[in-house]
Amino acid sequence: MTARGRLLLATRSAGKRRELEPLLRAHGWDVVDLDGAGLPERPEEEDALEVAETFEENALAKARYFHALSGLPTMADDSGLSCDALAGAPGVRSKRWSSRPERDGAALDAANNAMLLSALAGAALSAAVRREPPTRAARYVCGAAVVDGTRELGARGETTGWILEREVGTGGFGYDPLFYSDELGTTFGMVTREEKARVSHRARAVDALLRKVDEGS
Ligand code: IMP
Repeated sequence: MTARGRLLLATRSAGKRRELEPLLRAHGWDVVDLDGAGLPERPEEEDALEVAETFEENALAKARYFHALSGLPTMADDSGLSCDALAGAPGVRSKRWSSRPERDGAALDAANNAMLLSALAGAALSAAVRREPPTRAARYVCGAAVVDGTRELGARGETTGWILEREVGTGGFGYDPLFYSDELGTTFGMVTREEKARVSHRARAVDALLRKVDEGS
């Protein structure tokens, strides 16, 4: 394994950090998080970084912002769930979809999951009226970016599945207990972090990104 030096992991999400840190360490990075880099949260500025319509653009905006503050090579991701029956929603709005700004962590996840179930129930009714079959097909998408002062690189990863009608399992974070993975044959709420990393959108984006880092160095 090549030692690559320090890399700032620019996310405030504990769920993402738990997944990304081991992946990046396994690739030889000495990972520093935002607290470790002495960068306290600035909610208004940070929320303003996630206003683009693509995961890739938002990831790049976050990586640029935190690289400018820290001077460190910086990796950021932007990710979310995209449902066929909802024309791609919640998409880049996945984190704040339920519009509960006062909530965070598990309480925010619960509000988002309840919103997802009711939106899909509504979509199924509309499909029935149109005499079309309902679909609960969905995919997780992740855009990841690295900015190091010389280069700006980006990559994307996806993983497909279905949204169940109730939560199964308590693992992972966010929409995971509702997301039945085609490839794992169970929900992301039921698997270990290592199993999720075999197929996840985030692991795929990071792999693709690190291949680009290696190609250019
Ligand atoms: P971001 O922090 O703006 O990238 O928003 C990510 C949001 O997308 C999270 O708060 C979750 O709602 C959702 N999300 C992204 N990746 C995952 C995942 O791996 N599991 C569950 N939810 C995810």
